Amino acid sequence: MIPDNTLEKIECLIIGSGPAGYTAAIYAARADMKPVMYEGMQPGGQLTITTEVENYPGYPEGIMGPEMMELFKKQAVRLGTDVRYGMITNVDFSGKAPYKLIVDESKEILAETIIISTGASAKWLGIPSEEKLNGRGVSACAVCDGFFFKGKDVAIVGAGDTACEEASYLSKICSKVYMIVRRNEFRASKAMQHRVMNTPNIEVLFSSETDEILGDAKVEGVRIKNNITGEKLEIPIQGFFVAIGHQPNTEIFKPYIIMDEVGYIITQPDSSKTNIEGIFACGDAQDKVYRQAVTAAGTGCMAALDAERYLSAKHHATLNN
Ligand code: NDP
Repeated sequence: MIPDNTLEKIECLIIGSGPAGYTAAIYAARADMKPVMYEGMQPGGQLTITTEVENYPGYPEGIMGPEMMELFKKQAVRLGTDVRYGMITNVDFSGKAPYKLIVDESKEILAETIIISTGASAKWLGIPSEEKLNGRGVSACAVCDGFFFKGKDVAIVGAGDTACEEASYLSKICSKVYMIVRRNEFRASKAMQHRVMNTPNIEVLFSSETDEILGDAKVEGVRIKNNITGEKLEIPIQGFFVAIGHQPNTEIFKPYIIMDEVGYIITQPDSSKTNIEGIFACGDAQDKVYRQAVTAAGTGCMAALDAERYLSAKHHATLNN
């Protein structure tokens, strides 16, 4: 690629604004790398649709996810990060840096070094009734939409920490919460399982799969199937929540960056380096194991340090030539 000198050239571009991106921004700004962050479709990332965060060190009383992300942003901006609203919609990582990227399908920019912190998005069951009733009682975010089902009966699919956390949240707003669990056990941590099993208005339906969400204009019920007995059961509900995990937001990088079969970016051991020089990845876009705010922040720090070392080595190489 021949660099176009009329385009804006960014020294350190950060794509995505969750804990990984903001931590990278804080470190990059302090290292005088003049970071520019494009926030993406969901500014603040997944924590903006969560409730209380109890396991991030430094908040002994816990903190609400959206408030925590506001604080991350404030710190990144105070230290000099240029935070911009917008999406990176296309990239060209062929050739050498600076790499060309497209913002919001129209504006072209160049970046000397790139930190990918695009996170992950909620997965869906993929059944037709789910798509038909999405936004009409079907949701993948209990915290965003739970309020609409105050005093009503709802169901939630999933058996991980997210599903348990959301079931627990919904149990405080709704009359009754059915948890649809496909195996005969949870995946969630023991503490979360315990909380769910001890909440009187949560009923866990093990070995159960969603056959169909019922209703035409809005959710009126769910038909579940017991995957051991084959027995089907219709339950009247008004809200249907999906909490079955996430998909990394890495699609646009696929032609260039090495990923696993799911789409998690593969980084080199003990580093945030991708297969392309000057491009680093952190947070849920590359971590399928831990996926915590604090681990995302840790890898964001690694990415900024790696980017700084890369730029500094490049600078010295230029001076010595
Ligand atoms: P997980 O991948 O941990 O769990 C997904 C759940 O959805 C599993 O129980 C899985 O079932 C179920 N599932 C997947 N596909 C389907 C399907 N098609 N139909 C029915 N069920 C399905 O995702 P989470 O979002 O729960 O958690 C992600 C990570 O974030 C984890 O590491 C978790 O520990 C962490 N987390 C931590 C929190 C905290 O510490 N406060 C809060 C929330 C998340 P199966 O078990 O059968 O595979």
